[in-house]
Amino acid sequence: MILALYQHHYPYPVPGFVSELTGSFSTSAAQNPTVAIMEAAYGAADLDIRYINCEVPADRLADAVRGAIGMGWLGFNCSIPHKESILEYLDDLAPSARIIGAVNTVVNNDGHLTGENTDGQGFVQSLRTVRDPQGAQMVIFGAGGAAKAIAVESALAGAESITIVNRTAERGASLAAVVDEQTPATADFQPWTANYPIPEGSTIVVNATSLGFHPHAEQTLDVDFSTFAPGMVVADVVANPPMTRWLQSAQEAGCVPLTGLGMLVNQALVNARLWTGRTLDADVMHKALEQALGIATPN
Ligand code: NDP
Repeated sequence: MILALYQHHYPYPVPGFVSELTGSFSTSAAQNPTVAIMEAAYGAADLDIRYINCEVPADRLADAVRGAIGMGWLGFNCSIPHKESILEYLDDLAPSARIIGAVNTVVNNDGHLTGENTDGQGFVQSLRTVRDPQGAQMVIFGAGGAAKAIAVESALAGAESITIVNRTAERGASLAAVVDEQTPATADFQPWTANYPIPEGSTIVVNATSLGFHPHAEQTLDVDFSTFAPGMVVADVVANPPMTRWLQSAQEAGCVPLTGLGMLVNQALVNARLWTGRTLDADVMHKALEQALGIATPN
């Protein structure tokens, strides 16, 4: 009787009363929409797995990691401020995570922790829906965590050359050196001059800065938009709003716009595959993300 009642109210089949656990450690955790994507996708696949956003300050990361191992979590994401400090608790690092020097996804195999960086993998999977990075001439604006993950993963996926353009020269030059020395791609750094012209022949151009992110949707990049060439893929890491001013300008110039939503959803798909071995439903994830952010997706 109790089981029947429970099954009636609970969205998953009930093999017992213990769900498998995944989640995210960050602070502040409240704004992270990944929980909506993951719970919707687990539910749609009839998986008895939960995803829990956990508020974990910097000085509690060790306790949180021990807790996850103790409770047998399948794995967890880590976001600000843990993406680099998590490294000291890991037993293994995936090759791209080693080059990037940061981890956003941890897989727990009976206490053995492997770190992955799926931000860049999510970007490349999203990119592949419009253009293969193989042989691409890329320009990436920004040199922070997202830019680094995108640059390294695109280089490992076959991009031929990558130009890093960043406001702070030291950070930009250091990222270009990492890509140039540790991946098969060639990379250089260009200072971000006013009304920056996109180099002729560029095939994929990415905003990997936070410019345009909600609530500053009026902001955009100091770039000469007359140098957008038709057919160029122009991508944004900013997912909210999805159609940023940067992407609107690119679309008006005949470029192929790629929103940050695809990167977010594909990253979650990769995480779920690493934790469960299953490929979950990308459409369910997209819809859950739109609903969580209160937006309508243009592509
Ligand atoms: P970081 O703080 O590590 O880096 C921010 C970057 O933006 C730096 O290169 C910084 O330049 C640049 N920047 C910030 N403000 C300006 C400005 N006014 N003018 C020029 N450049 C500026 O952040 P992350 O890399 O972690 O995140 C960047 C964005 O990517 C965020 O909006 C985040 O939400 C988004 N993101 C999206 C994901 C997705 O799945 N769609 C996944 C991960 C991140 P400088 O070095 O000079 O300070």
